[in-house]
Amino acid sequence: MSHQITARRFAAATVLACAGVLVVLRGRLGLSYITAHPVAYAMLTAGVLLGELLPVTIPRRGDEQITVSTSFSLAVLVLGGLGPALLSQLVASLAQDLAVRKAWWRIRFNFGQYGLSLAAASAAITAFTVMPNPDAGRPFSGADVPIILLGAAAFVVVNAGVVGAAVAMYQGTPLGRYFRKDVGFTAVSGGVLLCLAPIVAAAAAYSSALIPLFVLPMTAIYRAGRQAARSEHAAHHDQLTGLPNRIAFHDTVNAVLEDESRPASVLLMDLNRFKEVNDTLGHRYGDELLRRIAERLRASVGDEHALARLGGDEFAVFTQVSGEAALEFARRVGDDLRTSFELGDFVVETDASVGVASFPDDGRDLETLLQKADVAMYRAKETHASVAAYDERHDHNSPAKLALTADLRQAVETDQIVVWYQPLLDLGTGRVTGVEALVRWQHPDLGLLLPGAFLDMAEHTSLIKPLTQKVLDLAMGQIVQWRQMGVEVSVAVNVSTRMLIDPGFAARVRQALTVYEIPPRLLRLEVTESALMADPVVARAVLTELDEGGVEISIDDFGTGYSSLAYLADLPVSEVKIDRGFVSRMEVGSSAAVIVRSTIDLGHHLGLRVVAEGVEEIETLEQLRDLGCDVAQGYGISRPMTVQDTTQWLRRSRSPGEEGGAPVISIVEAA
Ligand code: C2E
Ligand code: CA
Ligand code: CA
Repeated sequence: MSHQITARRFAAATVLACAGVLVVLRGRLGLSYITAHPVAYAMLTAGVLLGELLPVTIPRRGDEQITVSTSFSLAVLVLGGLGPALLSQLVASLAQDLAVRKAWWRIRFNFGQYGLSLAAASAAITAFTVMPNPDAGRPFSGADVPIILLGAAAFVVVNAGVVGAAVAMYQGTPLGRYFRKDVGFTAVSGGVLLCLAPIVAAAAAYSSALIPLFVLPMTAIYRAGRQAARSEHAAHHDQLTGLPNRIAFHDTVNAVLEDESRPASVLLMDLNRFKEVNDTLGHRYGDELLRRIAERLRASVGDEHALARLGGDEFAVFTQVSGEAALEFARRVGDDLRTSFELGDFVVETDASVGVASFPDDGRDLETLLQKADVAMYRAKETHASVAAYDERHDHNSPAKLALTADLRQAVETDQIVVWYQPLLDLGTGRVTGVEALVRWQHPDLGLLLPGAFLDMAEHTSLIKPLTQKVLDLAMGQIVQWRQMGVEVSVAVNVSTRMLIDPGFAARVRQALTVYEIPPRLLRLEVTESALMADPVVARAVLTELDEGGVEISIDDFGTGYSSLAYLADLPVSEVKIDRGFVSRMEVGSSAAVIVRSTIDLGHHLGLRVVAEGVEEIETLEQLRDLGCDVAQGYGISRPMTVQDTTQWLRRSRSPGEEGGAPVISIVEAA
């Protein structure tokens, strides 16, 4: 807002300055040329008018325009002096301004700006020669040409200066940066039109019949200019949405970052589930959605911040605020995108994840900032938050993490990766029927690492594949060993998203079962809801293939995602594990208890076995048994243990006399 006020004050000052100058130059405002050469004057004025009505808008600078009218108004200046030139320019620009319904203050500003420019040209010319010279046979001599060009240059400089200052103020761009940006372009486009001015003047002085001949060359210049402006626009804008593209965003942001050391932020956002829309409704709807999103963003972001579409469903915003203010802004933009759009007969719900990186803390150039914002954006997606700021701890590219990645690569190849096991207690029989395999990393310097310390990193690199393969191998080897010892327990292995959307995964698992000669029912795979949602089509195919091979699938951490049990039960799934977040807060009467109870009931109705994880207290165990829960897992039964400890524990829980072993509940109570 304040920018606009500054711009309007500047416009008013321009008008005043122009009035002052004209008062000083009032002696030169004679209009005798018009009465002496009415036809030539009318034709030249028509040229000015045509030029004004068909301007070429310079795409990169708001609504600044160049027009071929300059050649004609300067020709009038040369032939008839300041008065007639002002008059044709004023008539033409008034006609144009009214045609596009410009505001009055801008119409007045245009008068002022042209008045000043023409006065400057006139002053420059008359400083060196007598012109127009009514006594001379010809309006000017060859020696006058450089002087005319000087006058034309004065016109362009004053005009570009005054208009540029006003536009820069209106946009809030620092003047220095604004003018540096494309001096070259202004000089070339202005220069061409200036050089034509003396030629138009000479032709008009020779015969007014020559003036219409300029229509063709001027049209050519006009069209070339428009074409150049268009390709300039195309190079810097995204065709689909009309927003600035990556190149334009780079130019704008880097210019600001070089100039100023004020804090600033880059927001990177990406629609959640855009791919789904594109895949299910088709590209036509996908494109339409992107256009609508772009419109919404333009309104939401406003003029003060730079907005761009970087590609696909990825948009970026540059804002000169940082810290909490930037997050607040990001949240607002994110909220504006959490909405629905009607596309033909469909209603599409959208929401976006926004990552924020700040200058100078997170990076000093746009490349780095975008990269950091990308890390933050993924963090936002992972945590289902709409907005996240960059945090080195979540950056898998930070130096410490990079070193750990290299270590992990080695670890998978050597025997640093080990598996611990945690018993699963059957609440109906009180016996342990299975264990869950939990990966551990015996790091040479850092000691025993829990999955929380390295899984994320493995997920973000290709290491998750060999790591999962390693755990599967170790687990299957263990099933074989336990069977040889007469202990038959099933082993559940956790499978991450990446594996589940790998179409070859199921075949590898089935092959390994054959090689190890393991009955498939002894292997269980735990997958999370979010893994299933990542690519539902492939995930379903992989699960179906595993199911056909006899491998049971368990839904891990149930209740933390967004899927319904009914949806999951429609997949070849045999078990659901209620997340420990609910189980640990199950005091009688709590909402967690209600959720656990209804999950158990619904799970049973859907034919699923229900497991409660995170059982720490004996009371919880009893509560779960009363609710009919099938299986329990948790520190209250046993913590995860090394292979050796697990083997002992399993043996202890089976007294030799009874077939199948003694109930474990007594062990729990004894512990
Ligand atoms: P999860 O699948 O939910 O595994 C259970 C986690 O809860 C284990 O942590 C276990 O130690 C812990 N836990 C068990 N009982 C209790 C309890 O009573 N109270 C509390 N507070 N915690 C309990 P861990 O071993 O650190 O594993 C964390 C997660 O890492 C696992 O969560 C699983 O998502 C993932 N993970 C573990 N091993 C693998 C693996 O081999 N591959 C993949 N892809 N992910 C794995
Ligand atoms: Ca698990
Ligand atoms: Ca779990």
